[in-house]
Amino acid sequence: MKPAGEREIVVARAASESIRRGHPWIWRSAITKGLEKVTAGEVVRIVAADGSAVVGRGIADPASPIAARVWVNGEAPMNGALVDARIARALRVRQQLFGGTAAADGGTTAYRLLHGEGDRTPGFVVDRYEHVAVLRLDGDAARAYADTFIPHLWKQLERTGVSTLVKREAGGDAKKEARATHVEGEPMPDVIVVREHGVPFVVDLARGQKTGAFLDQRENRRRVQEIVASRKAKRVLNLFSYAGGFSLRAALGGAERVTSVDIAANAHATAQSSFKRAGVDPRAHEFVTADAFAFLAEAKRAKRTWDVVVSDPPSFAPSEKALQRAIQAYRALHRACADVLADGGVLCAASCSSHVDASDFAATLDDQSLGRSDLRLLSLDGPGEDHPTLPAWPEGRYLKFAVLE
Ligand code: SAH
Repeated sequence: MKPAGEREIVVARAASESIRRGHPWIWRSAITKGLEKVTAGEVVRIVAADGSAVVGRGIADPASPIAARVWVNGEAPMNGALVDARIARALRVRQQLFGGTAAADGGTTAYRLLHGEGDRTPGFVVDRYEHVAVLRLDGDAARAYADTFIPHLWKQLERTGVSTLVKREAGGDAKKEARATHVEGEPMPDVIVVREHGVPFVVDLARGQKTGAFLDQRENRRRVQEIVASRKAKRVLNLFSYAGGFSLRAALGGAERVTSVDIAANAHATAQSSFKRAGVDPRAHEFVTADAFAFLAEAKRAKRTWDVVVSDPPSFAPSEKALQRAIQAYRALHRACADVLADGGVLCAASCSSHVDASDFAATLDDQSLGRSDLRLLSLDGPGEDHPTLPAWPEGRYLKFAVLE
């Protein structure tokens, strides 16, 4: 089928193969014809180099290195029914994960509703915080297609009890992440209290990072509580603590003193409100506003040690080129963590750099890197199931969470 007015782009053979496997990105260099005619946000037909077949359909982004994101693998048309079906399927999976009997542990009211490429809605990410949904648009194509997409999204969100939709536009410059702007429904509260498996967390929607919180670490936060409880760990260090998710879990696991370190002082204020909400006195714990590397160097000099150390830094590898430098940075960080880890302690090390894959990351925790040979890798996990990925898309498996003991 060739809808009237639909333009086409022609892709090199390797790109056709990659699309058939289910990779959702087409690099600009792989497009041999047609890109100059299309505009950002336009639905295009993707045609094989020899013109013999329609490989798929997607949304063009001619100025970006990812010049098109694929929505349809094969001949099917891209229309409103397809967008509805994608959203419906994603919402159904979340209902299974977090609704009904899954709420028996006290419930999870903050989770990812739509995970962009991983839910086959490339460029569109939606996080839910209680009754508020935050839409993140990745790139010019998603921004331009948003007017078409949002009515489909809102119609289905309203049916699931969402009463506010806001959006954040992730631009080319990740540091300049835009503030939330109102899209539909009631005004957004600046701060909201959500629950993760029954534990209350205060989320600063107005000033927070990403869509407000790092929901991808939910299951790993719970794991930290289990680790602390089962080992009867007393002292826990949480580096790059942000809003104190791992810290609160450690305190609820029974830690006597949790030390949270972050360079941003306002993150500690949010963490302390969450502690209070959960019935934990923040004054029993330590909140340090400092550079994590400087803190670790000072702790080593002072011969301080902790029974559990958690490290969850921001991405070290913004690009493939920066990969080697990122790996060196992880090695240095992990050495510094190992230096303050008590004998018999547990090290939890995370990475959200998509260019560093799981085995490269595990290697930054090897004996030579840590300067000790008593630790074993107990597990190497990723995010929760509300962050699905595609088998053909390794770039999507960005989050690693290693536990060593
Ligand atoms: N572990 C958190 C997420 C961490 S995000 C969670 O589960 O929610 C990364 C955090 O690292 C941010 O809060 C940022 O302020 C902080 N940060 C960035 N560079 C830092 C540095 N050099 N030292 C300490 N904190 C830093």
